[in-house]
Amino acid sequence: MRVYNFSAGPATLPESVLTEVQAELLDFQGTGISVMEHSHRSKTFVEVAETAEKDLRELMGISDEYSVLFLQGGATSQFSLVPQNLCQATDTADYIVTGQWSKKAASQAKTFVNVNVAADTSASKFTQVPEVAAWNLSDNSEYVHICSNETVHGVEFSGTPDVGNRLLIADMSSSILSQEIDVSKYGIIYAGAQKNIGPAGLTIVIVRKDLLERAGQNISPVFNYKAMDAAGSMSNTPPTFGWYMAGKVFKWLKEQGGVSAIGDLNAKKAQLLYSAIDNSDFYANPVAVNARSRMNVPFTLATPELDDKFLELAGKASLTNLKGHRSVGGMRASIYNPMPLTGVQALVDFMAEFEKSHG
Ligand SMILES: *Cc1c(COP(=O)(O)O)cnc(C)c1O
Repeated sequence: MRVYNFSAGPATLPESVLTEVQAELLDFQGTGISVMEHSHRSKTFVEVAETAEKDLRELMGISDEYSVLFLQGGATSQFSLVPQNLCQATDTADYIVTGQWSKKAASQAKTFVNVNVAADTSASKFTQVPEVAAWNLSDNSEYVHICSNETVHGVEFSGTPDVGNRLLIADMSSSILSQEIDVSKYGIIYAGAQKNIGPAGLTIVIVRKDLLERAGQNISPVFNYKAMDAAGSMSNTPPTFGWYMAGKVFKWLKEQGGVSAIGDLNAKKAQLLYSAIDNSDFYANPVAVNARSRMNVPFTLATPELDDKFLELAGKASLTNLKGHRSVGGMRASIYNPMPLTGVQALVDFMAEFEKSHG
């Protein structure tokens, strides 16, 4: 039996996508073999790959000025590859630290560029997004890096920060495709697939084409954006199954009405859960209201002694993977695109019931 899976990642996928994948697993489109067993250079797979890219471009409104790369290595690899592709080691880059992931990005970039942490909300225990006016950007930075949605701390930029003429780079691993954004405001958007797109192992990098000409550092062709762009993301074997699954999820998203429609639904889901938390004296969320994530909702119970009981009974009610990140504690409900409103409603109902019997 399928349950409601609130995992932060790898995360829940649309059931219809899984069923479709299951149905064509042994024999993909009458070829007598699975999609995993096809050469990445075969006509069959190239069509899968091209259709996925076309659908992603359509969903996000990505213009021809951008290249879309389907890479391996996870979002974490991009923490190093962004500075390596764009900068010399003597250059400077600005980092906005609003949670665990942007902190890691800043820390791992240090080997490849001078990192200026232009804002850091760790003093608030990562419960805020600082205003751009308060950022201490350096005069000569190559780019400004943000994490649009902090998966661990449940902190999200409410829109695209206006950095003027500066080059904005965003880790959107846990918020890509969850609401409409203006891609043209970004130099690079990158995302690991396992939150809102598909299985782990695929990393999407959307890069403005003029940036491919930047003199970066000496790196392997499989890590070089320009080389990967020239090879159609196939300078070596790409993660074919992940790419295929991503294409299925993009098709599913189009059937749901696209990013605008799913954005409205995501707002509704988040609203339902945050109201349940705010209207109770038993549950609490520490994040400033204007910085609350629509995707990852951390919350605590009145006493941590009840955490295990909560998780146990939630599991019995088919609500799984609600344990908070070890660095934050409490609970975390990740409610990505494929989580239906009925799943959030079931969680909210369970929370009310638990409060009544244990509060
Ligand atoms: C999950 C996540 C990452 C790390 O992704 P990996 O695929 O494990 O490298 C980075 N940034 C954000 C915002 C994430 O949610």
